[in-house]
Amino acid sequence: MDSSLGLALYPTGVSRDDKYYIPVGDVTILVSKTLFRVHRHVLARDGSTFEDLFSLDSDVDPDEGQNDTRSFVQDGADDEHPIVMQGDEEDVFRDLLWCLYALPQKILEATTPKTEDGILKLANIAHIANKYHFVTTELWALQCLTDFFRNEPSNPQIQAQQGQTRVRTQRVPLSTSTLVKVTEVAALCEGREHNNVLLDALRPKWKSLIHTRSDVGLALSVTERLGLRDLCGLAYHTMLQQGRENWDRDPHLTREHRIRLLSGFHKVTQFCDLLPSSPPAFTHHPNCIDGPEECGRAWKAFWKSMMSLDPDVGVGSQAMRHDKLDVLGRLMMAVSIMQTLEKGELQTLGTHPFEECDECHRPAMQATVVVCKKVQDELMDFFPDVV
Ligand SMILES: [Zn+2]
Repeated sequence: MDSSLGLALYPTGVSRDDKYYIPVGDVTILVSKTLFRVHRHVLARDGSTFEDLFSLDSDVDPDEGQNDTRSFVQDGADDEHPIVMQGDEEDVFRDLLWCLYALPQKILEATTPKTEDGILKLANIAHIANKYHFVTTELWALQCLTDFFRNEPSNPQIQAQQGQTRVRTQRVPLSTSTLVKVTEVAALCEGREHNNVLLDALRPKWKSLIHTRSDVGLALSVTERLGLRDLCGLAYHTMLQQGRENWDRDPHLTREHRIRLLSGFHKVTQFCDLLPSSPPAFTHHPNCIDGPEECGRAWKAFWKSMMSLDPDVGVGSQAMRHDKLDVLGRLMMAVSIMQTLEKGELQTLGTHPFEECDECHRPAMQATVVVCKKVQDELMDFFPDVV
């Protein structure tokens, strides 16, 4: 059958959908340039907006509607009078119809996606179900996505493929653009609620991506747009390490982003300059051997040595070199050193007096964890709004 109609009423190129133009259906819908014909009772399920739309339809008094050819009675009747959907994409609408018409086995398969397309399909369904208020359909798609991302290994291998970075996990290869799409849907559906389970399940993916320093500019602009402050702070922090040439080159960064990075550069530099001389305070153990004063001095020296970037002096620099401005990396290294010290397994080149004070290792470690966590949670404070 020739599905091209060439109707004068519509832009040329309008055609019937291959799959969801069901001749025995009772309502015709135009999405962009594709005509769908389906069953009203299927679209009106699940508390959807279509239920209200169609009930308005049946409320119309036939005598009144008779002469009014523009009334809703006519809408959807045939190809010449379809219900015209605004702002939807054919593929997304087709995914919704797939979900409403699918048999149980197909629904079961979609519940645990095995391909990137399967994930995109769920994201499309959640998106359009949210728009047209298919209540349980939206919840189902969001739950499938949440389960998928919770169960995915969060430590990806990165593979550059045709200029686009792909985050490769053991299970389903996932491009950054898909991660962006799912995150946008999560923000749309969960944004106003307190219970952001999908967004929380997506966070490790973003952290891994930013950690590998790929697509950082994209991550920065997306997380900023969606108001994901913690991830945005991490992206700014990572972008900072990449250096100014990269800020200028990255097509995802705007002038405002670059100004923020510049003011962040000054704030982080200031913080890092003070870091070696600012050990976090802690309450000494009652059995502190040397007494708080002397032990405190020893702690101060030990902290300074952890924060030193000089490989001959620094405890941390022996394990891993960090950029001066990698404030988070340096603090995380300090946490790791303190945890090793607390377990009594730290081996340093020189002997630091603080290593002798066993009782105070634990409170000092805990204070280091608190500082690190605070900086991690509030990275965005280094990059305030540009006035
Ligand atoms: Zn002490």
